[in-house]
Amino acid sequence: MIENLGLKKSILAVLVAVSCMLPFAATASAEPPKVTVVLRYDDYSAKSPIAVERELIEILRRNHTKAVFAVIPFACAIDAQSLMTQKRLPLTPEKIALLKYGIKAGAVEVALHGYSHQTIHTRAQGYSEFAGEQYDTQLRKIQEGKRYLEKALGVPITCFIPPWNHYDENTCKALSAAGIRMLSANLKGPPSKDLQYLPCTAVLQGLLPGVEDGLESPGSGKLLVAQFHHYDFRNRSEDQRATMPLTLFDRLVHRIASLQSIRIVTFSDLADVDLSSARYEANLGRLQLAMLLPKRIRNNNDRSVYLTTAELADRHTRLLAMALGYYAAVILLAGLLGLVLARFLRIRPLYAWLLLLLVGIGATAYVMVYSEQWGLDYSAATNATIGVAAVVGLLVGRLRYRRYEG
Ligand SMILES: [Zn+2]
Repeated sequence: MIENLGLKKSILAVLVAVSCMLPFAATASAEPPKVTVVLRYDDYSAKSPIAVERELIEILRRNHTKAVFAVIPFACAIDAQSLMTQKRLPLTPEKIALLKYGIKAGAVEVALHGYSHQTIHTRAQGYSEFAGEQYDTQLRKIQEGKRYLEKALGVPITCFIPPWNHYDENTCKALSAAGIRMLSANLKGPPSKDLQYLPCTAVLQGLLPGVEDGLESPGSGKLLVAQFHHYDFRNRSEDQRATMPLTLFDRLVHRIASLQSIRIVTFSDLADVDLSSARYEANLGRLQLAMLLPKRIRNNNDRSVYLTTAELADRHTRLLAMALGYYAAVILLAGLLGLVLARFLRIRPLYAWLLLLLVGIGATAYVMVYSEQWGLDYSAATNATIGVAAVVGLLVGRLRYRRYEG
């Protein structure tokens, strides 16, 4: 028995040694990766800090990995969030040279990130450079930006990343007309059958937790697209949006790249991955259904990965059952409340209803105001659905009592 154990141990040791000597043989197995990661660095432009970007490319190169750089061809000179007329700044020769170096080193793949990245709407309307813009203007901006980057860098531009991740149906049409086949925004915009979708699912802080969740949950073929900006790497005291120093990012990339069943890729490596509008629509539907449930009940981890259609079918049933169960409980509780109020307060139906309605509106408003503080993160849809469920419950309770009394 002990000898057997010793033999097993030595076989294991040999296997470990061989697998260490042959890392590529291990990764080349038929097993598909559980999680495919795309790192998306946004806002590379004439204005973005070149020292940070140089270091970023070196980190990617050192770790034998790569990222998508979302490049603004003609960045507005002063403020992207202002509606005033501004000078446009094409990429400087140093910026073009750095991108070319990154591409040649296999560390960078370039996507078109708008035209000037200047908003056409106010903050209240929601910042956007494209959504709400005329079709002809959108097409011209996309064509000019694509032509400029292709000429400057000598590579085809096939992916578009809209500023603030906002776009509309006209953007989809203009992209197809301009010969762009891939769109990377977030899980909010309209789907189009003519495009491939690579939506961003996480920010930099969510990268490692997202990867871990993706590895722990069953199924493979999950996609995680992490979006980040130069200010993520700033000092926290200089910029509240800062997430981590570059040294930590280096360690993070190293850690993720070394995990088994993970691959870090850019869009040219995604030929074997389903990026169809059908998968996009299915993920969109799941997110909308999940938003009907309070944060603590729905599985938040689901949000940081882009699931396959097969996984979604399974999760959809579970999510639907959870939503039905949750709202049935709300109706039941409201029904009991209706019964108690009718039984003990003994108020006339009209006054009872006015009182209940006021209580209901007050409670909903209270939850809406304090939900964030309580960590509930109720969406408007959740509030509205809870309100409807509560009114139904109260009505049922009241009617039930009247029948019981009569
Ligand atoms: Zn941007």
